Amino acid sequence: MTKKNHVAVIGGGAAGLMAAITAVRNGAQVTLFERQERVGKKILVTGNGRCNLTNMQCTPAGFVGADSQFVVPVLNRFPVAAALAFFHDLGLCTMEESAGRVFPVTGQASTVLDLLRFEVERIGVSVQVAADITMIIPKNRSFTVRWRDGEVAVDRVVATPGGKAFPHLSGTGGGIDLLTRLGHTVEPLFPALVPLKTDLPFNRGLKGVKVDAAVTLRIDDQAAAVDKGEVLFTDYGLSGPPIIQLSLAANRAAAANRAIAVRLDMFSTWSADDLACDIDKRNTARPDQPLDCALIGLIHKRLIVPVIKSSGIADPQQPIGKLTPEDRRRIVGILKGWTIPVTGSLSWNDAHVMAGGVSTAGFDPATLESRRIPGLWAAGEVLDVTGECGGHNLQWAWSSGYVAGLHAATV
Ligand SMILES: Cc1cc2nc3c(=O)[nH]c(=O)nc-3n(C[C@H](O)[C@H](O)[C@H](O)COP(=O)(O)OP(=O)(O)OC[C@H]3O[C@@H](n4cnc5c(N)ncnc54)[C@H](O)[C@@H]3O)c2cc1C
Repeated sequence: MTKKNHVAVIGGGAAGLMAAITAVRNGAQVTLFERQERVGKKILVTGNGRCNLTNMQCTPAGFVGADSQFVVPVLNRFPVAAALAFFHDLGLCTMEESAGRVFPVTGQASTVLDLLRFEVERIGVSVQVAADITMIIPKNRSFTVRWRDGEVAVDRVVATPGGKAFPHLSGTGGGIDLLTRLGHTVEPLFPALVPLKTDLPFNRGLKGVKVDAAVTLRIDDQAAAVDKGEVLFTDYGLSGPPIIQLSLAANRAAAANRAIAVRLDMFSTWSADDLACDIDKRNTARPDQPLDCALIGLIHKRLIVPVIKSSGIADPQQPIGKLTPEDRRRIVGILKGWTIPVTGSLSWNDAHVMAGGVSTAGFDPATLESRRIPGLWAAGEVLDVTGECGGHNLQWAWSSGYVAGLHAATV
């Protein structure tokens, strides 16, 4: 009987669980090391506890990294259909929602994790929790993997330690150090898919206000990207799906010292003329009414004073009849294009993903094996691949975990 390859998978998140299952299914003996007291904790919080596990519209265009083509062979080898077949086979029923996002029909992320854990147990992956791996030591085409309480000799290593986002449920970047100590390099790291900070004087008063808006990200005063949806004003700035989506490009540009702003069109289905006519009607009907009262019914009540003041009108209680055509034009300008400078973003604790990561130049995109250290693979968020919101990041974890696990077992 031929000896099975003993593969150490470092990190029991989405990518590590997929790599471990795939390696065992392809003939390897696998030990999965997880620094926390249980595997897959981050999966539980994904998709607001519902786990947006993939996206039917996922293509390489939904990912960024220094090498934009790196994801192509990985996604081709294990595409969305393969991920869905994998989960359906485990017993997970899924449903597609808007913009191609796929969730379990149970509405519970925990069902995704349970099914992965059952499979890990069924096929005999050995799981070692509370094992924070501190060293991977290559020796004569095999490895010693070391943690505080012990070490083990293995034939191959798959590194899936994730990034620095949501550190209480994942890693703090120590996983990246494991790879840099072996000579791999790192593309600059920054929090992504994260709320943005602004310095509006009205931030505190606007906390909790939600508006549907078309949001344009402006970089150095040029439109760079657009997204639509519910924007949430917070006491530190802006959140909500379109802001989170645009934060990836925003923080990337901010890291290059470029000026960032977002422009909110809060009436994207109205023309500027429609809005001007509506304000004129209010003026004609009740010219003596204070402006801040006259706009009730058109604008969220807590937004009225900030909109008036941002339009350059000093007294929100002046009668609407005193509005000049220029005042009206400026109010319409704010409602259809409120440009708000971005001063930063929240930190790793609030970011859904880490952008940047271990440089993909050091890995073969066909297999995800290290070009520096034969017998070492990497997958998931630790690599410099960041997906858009909407299921892309988990799809990358499944696809890359599969490719790394397959090759670690069979090469
Ligand atoms: C709040 C939130 C919501 C999200 N929602 C979605 C969503 O709905 N859809 C989507 O596609 N993506 C979502 N994401 C992103 C997605 O969860 C991640 O991209 C994905 O989980 C990354 O998988 P990973 O296995 O590479 O890393 P992780 O999930 O971070 O797993 C890495 C694991 O390795 C362990 N580890 C780290 N270092 C070591 C070490 N030295 N030794 C041993 N173990 C180690 C960690 O404890 C962790 O368990 C969300 C993220 C967050 C934070």
